[in-house]
Amino acid sequence: MKIGIIGQGASGVILALMLKQFDQNIDITMFDHNEKTNKKLLATGNGRCNLGNLKIYPYTYNSSFANNLIKGFPINKQRDFFASLGLETRTLENLVYPYSLSSNQVVAYLNKLLKYYKVKFVNGGNFDDYAVGSQSVSVSVKNKIYKFDKLVIATGGMSKSTLGSDGSTFNILKKHDYEITPLKVGLAPVKVLENVRNIENERLKCKVSLFINKDKVYEETGEVLFKKDGLSGIAIFNCSSMIARSKNSSKIKIVLDVFPDISENDLYEKFEKYWGFAGFSFLEGVFPIRMADFIKVNSHSSDSSNFNKEDIRKIVKYCKNMSFTYKATYPFSESQVTVGGISLNDLNNDLSSKLEKNVYFAGEVIDIDGLCGGYNLMLAFASSYRVFNSIIKDI
Ligand SMILES: Cc1cc2nc3c(=O)[nH]c(=O)nc-3n(C[C@H](O)[C@H](O)[C@H](O)COP(=O)(O)OP(=O)(O)OC[C@H]3O[C@@H](n4cnc5c(N)ncnc54)[C@H](O)[C@@H]3O)c2cc1C
Repeated sequence: MKIGIIGQGASGVILALMLKQFDQNIDITMFDHNEKTNKKLLATGNGRCNLGNLKIYPYTYNSSFANNLIKGFPINKQRDFFASLGLETRTLENLVYPYSLSSNQVVAYLNKLLKYYKVKFVNGGNFDDYAVGSQSVSVSVKNKIYKFDKLVIATGGMSKSTLGSDGSTFNILKKHDYEITPLKVGLAPVKVLENVRNIENERLKCKVSLFINKDKVYEETGEVLFKKDGLSGIAIFNCSSMIARSKNSSKIKIVLDVFPDISENDLYEKFEKYWGFAGFSFLEGVFPIRMADFIKVNSHSSDSSNFNKEDIRKIVKYCKNMSFTYKATYPFSESQVTVGGISLNDLNNDLSSKLEKNVYFAGEVIDIDGLCGGYNLMLAFASSYRVFNSIIKDI
């Protein structure tokens, strides 16, 4: 059987290895406009390649379809599969990493395996179009036509186009009458209306709550990093995906509780003690100076000389409800995942196309996405597994 895979990213590469591990005689050709295979994987997990996560929550993925993909290839099975390739994994808290903690090493090793299995590569040319015949699918790349029994499109979303996924395939798919659900930025920093320039690069450990039209839709404890015009950090990335998934997103607030483990009254009592000794500047014993000033100004408390108990109340209230108004999400170039993609309406359960025979989809090109923490690679691998199981039925 001859199989063409467009996209040498996480889902395409793992699918090729699953197929070759099953039957070395399957003839596989992989295409990518990048010169190098698996360029994005190199950048994952801050260079450590966060492959998965032991814990899944009801809101981790955007749909029950995505959840079902994971159920079909859960993390323990994924780890067994990697071990069968010779890639041991380890966990740091709930996060699953390669044992080497190095995406460089993982990519080099996967590339070696692909070579060992004699997977063919066509690199450096855009996938322009494809044509579906009664028994085969032809692909046109760099003005050359390749013919396959089955074609798998695994070209990713639109996030970080410098790593390859530039969304160019969506235009091709539209020409083939596929429905593409709105493509939105996920897992990215957000811009806020408030002026945070004075606290750029400061960090706060806090509880982050996301409110859309006054309803709390998400909450996570983590570290928030202030940018010159907005907020960043994993909890904020996750908020951006929740915003992108939301259908109704006119009034959006992100509220930080800087003291999540202590009630407002207890915090007041604590602050009252410090204040007795140091006046307003007690805040500088708790926060960096720039942050202390920011809190003082934004809580609308008096200047140091007239500082009083009412000011402490205001500061405590502000620290427990530091509210920011969402303005926009940073662009695709700053994001880790694309929310939206090829509509599930056009796919069968085995990720084959409902519109075209012998065409399949895997990975982020599909309208599936997960939160930050290994969830998207896991999902990409789970989709490859679904396609793998469908293809081998025909062998
Ligand atoms: C900086 C960064 C860090 C991340 N860290 C993590 C992490 O630690 N854990 C996690 O789970 N997820 C992480 N993600 C998300 C994860 O990497 C992606 O969800 C995953 O790689 C998607 O796999 P994929 O195979 O669907 O697409 P991709 O890995 O994007 O691969 C798609 C491939 O298709 C190629 N391609 C696209 N269009 C064409 C075309 N027209 N012609 C030819 N080739 C084409 C691209 O060049 C690319 O190589 C991160 C993402 C980024 C950007």
